Amino acid sequence: MKIDASEISALIKEQIKEHTFYVHNEDVGMVLSVGDGIALVYGLDQVMLNELVIFENGVQGLVLNLQEEYVGVVVLGSDLEIKEGDKVKRSGALIEVGVGDQYLGRVVDALGHAIDGKGEIKYERTRPIERIAPGVMLRKSIDEPLETGIKAIDAMIPIGKGQRELIIGDRQTGKTAIAIDTIINQKNKNIYCVYVAIGQKQSTVANIVEKLKFANALSYTVIVAASASENASLQYIAPYSATAMAEEWLEQGKDVLIVYDDLSKHAVAYRTLSLLLKRSPGREAYPGDVFYLHSRLLERACKLSDKLGGGSLTALPIIETQAGDISAYIPTNVISITDGQIFLMSNLFNEGVRPAIDSGLSVSRVGGSAQIKAMKQVASSLKISLANYQELKDFARFGSDLDPKTKEILKHGEVLVELFKQDQYFPFSMERQILELFAVNHAYLDDLETNKVNFFLDGLYEYVKNFHSEILEEIKDKKVISEALEKTLHETISDYKEVVYRGEEI
Ligand code: ATP
Ligand code: MG
Repeated sequence: MKIDASEISALIKEQIKEHTFYVHNEDVGMVLSVGDGIALVYGLDQVMLNELVIFENGVQGLVLNLQEEYVGVVVLGSDLEIKEGDKVKRSGALIEVGVGDQYLGRVVDALGHAIDGKGEIKYERTRPIERIAPGVMLRKSIDEPLETGIKAIDAMIPIGKGQRELIIGDRQTGKTAIAIDTIINQKNKNIYCVYVAIGQKQSTVANIVEKLKFANALSYTVIVAASASENASLQYIAPYSATAMAEEWLEQGKDVLIVYDDLSKHAVAYRTLSLLLKRSPGREAYPGDVFYLHSRLLERACKLSDKLGGGSLTALPIIETQAGDISAYIPTNVISITDGQIFLMSNLFNEGVRPAIDSGLSVSRVGGSAQIKAMKQVASSLKISLANYQELKDFARFGSDLDPKTKEILKHGEVLVELFKQDQYFPFSMERQILELFAVNHAYLDDLETNKVNFFLDGLYEYVKNFHSEILEEIKDKKVISEALEKTLHETISDYKEVVYRGEEI
């Protein structure tokens, strides 16, 4: 598809002879050429950027390039039935998707059509897939936690409602697992979830749907899928459509969580479109506006002011790195747009530390203010203890004679690492996390064998749940560990350790 100006004008002149009608009607143009999902259209003089246009055979297109002689249209669907000379109508509007509660529990494509075989979705309203993010005055600061149920995150990298927290790591390091566990943990918390799968295998998406269904998490979740086999154009618009669906609930004052899995593939889809549209390539062949691609998406995450209903949209974008390189183009862009990142390491993952969160590189820049007091009381020193441990661990490899203080720090670090290991699909309640952290912080586990740590903690939780449930209730309701509660906790944990715990299954 090589076109130069003289060829175009010759072509146009020829076609104008037969189609004079189109030339004078600014709302109807015609296809000059089509291929690779891109159509060049002549005659749409007044068309707007990002406007929806409709081809003669009913397929929709998105205007992405405005040029003097023609416009570049991305075909949203198959371009096989579109021919040179076909009519193209303006719609005068941006692309819209259906929104509303009817979408809960459904799997839809990037245009909001059902793809789960449960019939068309009867939505009542539509929304444009793009909109300008709410401004500063319409927002309020983040003050409520969004509980992921993952100990390492809730304790050390807390996320607040309305925050944007990036999940970043190499392939197969458990990125999706963290997002899915977070969705599962929102059960009975009155939070709606949107999961957007971009450029993934259909089998992977089907698997995720199964897992959510099994965990009874589908009833408050909508899944938007633009899988690897679909056009780059659909992969490109999928996150915007999904955000529009989330914003409908946001504006009703609800709390919404959205997961973009993943934005690296989204950037690649956009690069494909840009190159096909003959935009000039920049660094790593991405077009110059690739930063804007993600910033305008992630800026839409927010906590709205009380006047606007106080709803929140929390975003968990995912980025895949190559060999841990967080300084590549797209990773640095998205790191700078988000309010923190959860960094997953493949070497930790392979050592069996799962979730493989690197506590040194991971941060949450705003979530701390949203953490509940009780969690702050038990979690404040964790990062430092872990950092001390990592440093000494490397050092201790060289010598065998260690002083007791060093041994103590090493042992406590091992217990912490063990504490943060957590199975997939088993998010923990906040009370349980606080109970476990309290026991670990006060060194109740430092004299146990390291591989018994989670066994001890599971038993402790069962014991407290069955015989001292008022402790868990109090943490849940009061959200703070009072002096009296601290005393009770010490007594209960000592009792458990001395009387109940046997160190093996009975
Ligand atoms: P991809 O790059 O393919 O998208 P990913 O980084 O999203 O991979 P996942 O698919 O979430 O990674 O996880 C990779 C594998 O690790 C899966 O088989 C998953 O079941 C397993 N896994 C993830 N987290 C845990 C965990 N906490 N405990 C045990 N296994 C886990
Ligand atoms: Mg994944």
